[in-house]
Amino acid sequence: MNLETNQICQLALPGVRALIPYQPGKPMSELERELGLSKIIKLASNENPKGPSQKVVSSMQTVLAEVSRYPDGNGFSLKTALAQHLAVEATQITLGNGSNDVLEIIARTFVSESSEVIFSEYAFAVYPIVTQAIGAQAVISKASVGGEYPCYGHDLSAMLKQVTEKTKLVFIANPNNPTGTFLTSEQLYGFLSSLPKQVLCVLDEAYFEYVRPEDRSNSVAWLTRFPNLIITRTFSKAYGLAGMRIGYSVSSSEVADLLNRVRQPFNTNIVALSAAEAALADIDYLSETIALNEHGMGQLTTAFSELGLSWIPSRGNFITVDFGRSAMPIYEELLAAGVIVRPIANYGLLNFLRISIGTEAENLFFINALTRILD
Ligand SMILES: *Cc1c(COP(=O)(O)O)cnc(C)c1O
Repeated sequence: MNLETNQICQLALPGVRALIPYQPGKPMSELERELGLSKIIKLASNENPKGPSQKVVSSMQTVLAEVSRYPDGNGFSLKTALAQHLAVEATQITLGNGSNDVLEIIARTFVSESSEVIFSEYAFAVYPIVTQAIGAQAVISKASVGGEYPCYGHDLSAMLKQVTEKTKLVFIANPNNPTGTFLTSEQLYGFLSSLPKQVLCVLDEAYFEYVRPEDRSNSVAWLTRFPNLIITRTFSKAYGLAGMRIGYSVSSSEVADLLNRVRQPFNTNIVALSAAEAALADIDYLSETIALNEHGMGQLTTAFSELGLSWIPSRGNFITVDFGRSAMPIYEELLAAGVIVRPIANYGLLNFLRISIGTEAENLFFINALTRILD
């Protein structure tokens, strides 16, 4: 970099310069280009292995004829369907170009350079990005390995102790990514009851649908008691729409009104809006997804025990495995065998790989490759 360019880069916010870019799962097309493999499976981005619902595909095809028009910037139809689904008012919902978009809108609405934002060391990589991109201070909370709460997740009491006068926002992912850990309803409710009223809590429930109904928090019902709560969910995971980019938040109507002022006017597109509405209505697809995931989780954990590997118990559609040594060489060998999984060294978890649960055949292909590599 020459001197002038370097000076220009120095103008960027210090938090931005300190950021490590988000590392997505390796695209299949990239591995195909690099290694010329004919068979590649991707278990790296917690996508739905079933592919999209047929009803979703038809609804998208129908709206293709309308793409010369701007979308409904207020997403009336999808919000109405979501409001009914969640038993809230449509005014409580904020739509985003993926829930990541909503996470960013929340940070830009509430957080300034003088603010602190708390999240766990092993929580979703997008939290530091949206925090540091606006120059706010990221306060990283240690996970409680061996503590009161499950290892590798959120130590809620430690997080509470980190709240200061500057704290504006706390991010909690439940189930957590990349570790799959889970906080019970009691734990979360207790946390929210202790959190000072002027601190927002973003409860990121991207994997909500994978949690057994009897274990789920009734978080949406808590909104009346906790005006500082914002829940985010997505169509990217169980609903099978990662490539469409659509997610949402549920909050008080007043908070949603603020988010709406910051949101780009047309942040969700016509095709995604229609796809999400069709996905929400396709109950069979969702239950097949959950059944497939449970089956795959059993298939993978059985194989891991047979291979003498330990893993972090997961409530999501992925599982994080401990190899007890640097996982990078294993990741590379899996790539060479045509299997893309996710290294999570960027979280400091050097010995771990995160495996998204695939179809039965994909899981088997992965297990066979891993068995050969570990032999
Ligand atoms: C996958 C994921 C999301 C979803 O992001 P989208 O932008 O909706 O695709 C959000 N939070 C967590 C913790 C995730 O793992």
